[in-house]
Amino acid sequence: MQVFCKTTDGNAEVRCCVCGQGFVLFWERQSRSERHQALHEIQKVFRSHHGNKAGPEAHPQNGFMIPELGGPVAFPGTAMVGHPPTWAL
Ligand SMILES: [Zn+2]
Repeated sequence: MQVFCKTTDGNAEVRCCVCGQGFVLFWERQSRSERHQALHEIQKVFRSHHGNKAGPEAHPQNGFMIPELGGPVAFPGTAMVGHPPTWAL
């Protein structure tokens, strides 16, 4: 499962536990358990963005992919900033 996250100032589905930035999520598919697992992983990604920045500017402003959830995830930093998948448009 992949999730595309995009920052929002409006109705946020999830908020960064570090800076409180809100995000909307684009899910490929979801079940209750998948969503629960994903939200846990997504918070790890949010925290990984805060390497040397404490504020919301730490997050890619154009959105970012959460790659393959459910396993060990490596974050190449800003290299993961890409284009949203077609299903997210
Ligand atoms: Zn944050």
